[in-house]
Amino acid sequence: MTSSIVKTICPFCGVGCGICLKVDGQQKLTGVEPQASHPISRGKLCEKGWSTAYAVHPDNRITQPLKRITNKFQPISWDEALSLICDSLKVIFEEAGPEAVGVISSARATNEDNYAAQKFARAVLKTNNIDHCARICHSPTVAGLKQTLGSGAMTNSAKDIYDTDLIVVIGADPTENHSILGGHIVDAHLKGTPLIVIDPRETRLAKMADMHVQLKPGSNIALINAMLHTIIAQQWHNQSFIEQRCEGFEALASNVEKLTPESVEPITGVSAELVRKVAKAYSQTKSAMIFYGMGITQFVSGTQSVIALADLALVCGQIGRPGTGINPLRGQNNVQGACDMGCLPNVYPGYQAADAADVQHKFSQCWGGEVAEGPGLTSLGMTKATLSGDFRGLILFGEDPVVTDPDQNHVKAALKALDLLVVAELTMTETAKLADIVLPAASFAEKDGTFTNCERRVQRISQVLAPPGMAKGDWQWLRVLAEKLGSQQLSWETSEQVFDEMAALTPSYQGMSYEGLTQHHGLQWPCNRDAPQGTEVLHRDTFPIGKAKLMPVHFTAIDEPADEQFPLLLTTNRLHFHYGCGSMTRKSPLLERETPAGVLFINPVDAKALQLQRFAPIGVRSRRGYLETRAMITDDVPPGLVSMPYHFKEAPSNQLTNTAQDPLTKMPELKACAVSVFPLPPN
Ligand code: SF4
Repeated sequence: MTSSIVKTICPFCGVGCGICLKVDGQQKLTGVEPQASHPISRGKLCEKGWSTAYAVHPDNRITQPLKRITNKFQPISWDEALSLICDSLKVIFEEAGPEAVGVISSARATNEDNYAAQKFARAVLKTNNIDHCARICHSPTVAGLKQTLGSGAMTNSAKDIYDTDLIVVIGADPTENHSILGGHIVDAHLKGTPLIVIDPRETRLAKMADMHVQLKPGSNIALINAMLHTIIAQQWHNQSFIEQRCEGFEALASNVEKLTPESVEPITGVSAELVRKVAKAYSQTKSAMIFYGMGITQFVSGTQSVIALADLALVCGQIGRPGTGINPLRGQNNVQGACDMGCLPNVYPGYQAADAADVQHKFSQCWGGEVAEGPGLTSLGMTKATLSGDFRGLILFGEDPVVTDPDQNHVKAALKALDLLVVAELTMTETAKLADIVLPAASFAEKDGTFTNCERRVQRISQVLAPPGMAKGDWQWLRVLAEKLGSQQLSWETSEQVFDEMAALTPSYQGMSYEGLTQHHGLQWPCNRDAPQGTEVLHRDTFPIGKAKLMPVHFTAIDEPADEQFPLLLTTNRLHFHYGCGSMTRKSPLLERETPAGVLFINPVDAKALQLQRFAPIGVRSRRGYLETRAMITDDVPPGLVSMPYHFKEAPSNQLTNTAQDPLTKMPELKACAVSVFPLPPN
């Protein structure tokens, strides 16, 4: 055997940087290097990207199926594992029907795995109970942008950062979480592009911005409405764009008529003068780009906040041209793809409505059998229904909801109450520890497929290594399980066949093939007969819904403000050196050395009041749980606000977080809950 260098894609965030994996003659992964000509990473990688080899290292990988026997796991064969799952599913079907089972797929898995998961749920299990972690990151983006613009994705491309006259970052921390894209923002700013950061925390970008709007957590809508008021009152809006391309302006203008910057100052904590400056800069600049993240979406008002941002861009005509647009920064490497593949209870691939008779007819014809008809449950809906006895069997892969979902004690109780919990994973995560059957999964380096990054770029990943032991790709074991349940509908031989079937049924992917993706460093959807080379900028001449919809939205306060008993507000954040639940990045000694444990970021004023020293051991309590960690004293958070990353299972911030939800998307309010902090004796 000879050594080789294989081009693939970094699995650690939605930027989708190009990496090369180096393999020696013994099929051992020996290193990682950046792809020099990649259109986004341009020969660079962040620390996580350089550490991808550790994530797939054989150490502590699950290498064979496991069956729980009381508190221990026993190795079994694939055939036995899938037969046990099949038998258990049949019992649940007979007793409770298909509504009692569901699938949670993964934003870390390929488009092919996700397409197979939703097809397995809808065509084999006959349920729309299919979801994934977009529920807790960008489900409001999909819902909000779909309603206003007709398409729930980043409207522009990463390269536009160098073609814009103003960058506005709101509720996002791209230098920490999307480091290569964040680096492009820093680069453009250092070359002269003005930068505005809107965030309760003083992030690294905020420190270098021309304006930092340090609003109170959860006051995004009040701020944006005050900007809209100012823009319309000053006649800074783009009248011709509104007349030609939007509807609903009168109702929007009337909604914000009285929302002066002064009137919302008690809500936002932002001076009226600063609101006017930002409104003027955004509306009067020729081209301005908005980037946003979970500081917009993870609130009970998440969908409404996304709609407010779309209103702002539309009213100013900052959309449909290079260097403009609304640009959600998707978190996980393939969260855009998992949404595109229809791993959501309400849509099939390409956002085709699951409750529409013509869509059900189309898929039942193409898949050759009846499909699910009833409404589906979200991931949090499945855990809730478990505790009431209505949901009994869950198949889950590549996600760790015990660490990543709000109110960890509730999630654990629900997963333990299931009759059947199947988890396919690389390593023994906190969720896998609760499973009845654990299946050994193949990593991104051990399978062929595609990921779709945050700028809608569908990119090929290539198999570099054989999966360790008996590990398999997800669509492959789903195919065998479907066959055991009597269905031949997943009987593909290759990942390319899965992709081709999906592309034929998904209008925005219709012009794509593995060959085309390989030739072009990926293609951005929509890619079809009208746009065979893909689409860098959405909505140039028209919106998928004809005219864009301007929609008035109203400020909604956070669900659980600080009070006497819990006097500090907790928000969650991510750190540069880790990804998601930490199960992959924490295998890297380099990343672990940089950030070995979770901390609570707290302002010096609050630390002094609590008599806390730097790194002092502390207890943190909310109405839902308690954890112990250490204090990191910093001005990056204002007095009254504390912040914690969620990567660390030893101090899981989701012990504390609130399950109050956005009514439309069921997005939990992960960005704000009330806590108390107190010192612990030194140890
Ligand atoms: Fe990987 Fe994201 Fe870092 Fe790029 S920015 S190297 S995709 S973690």
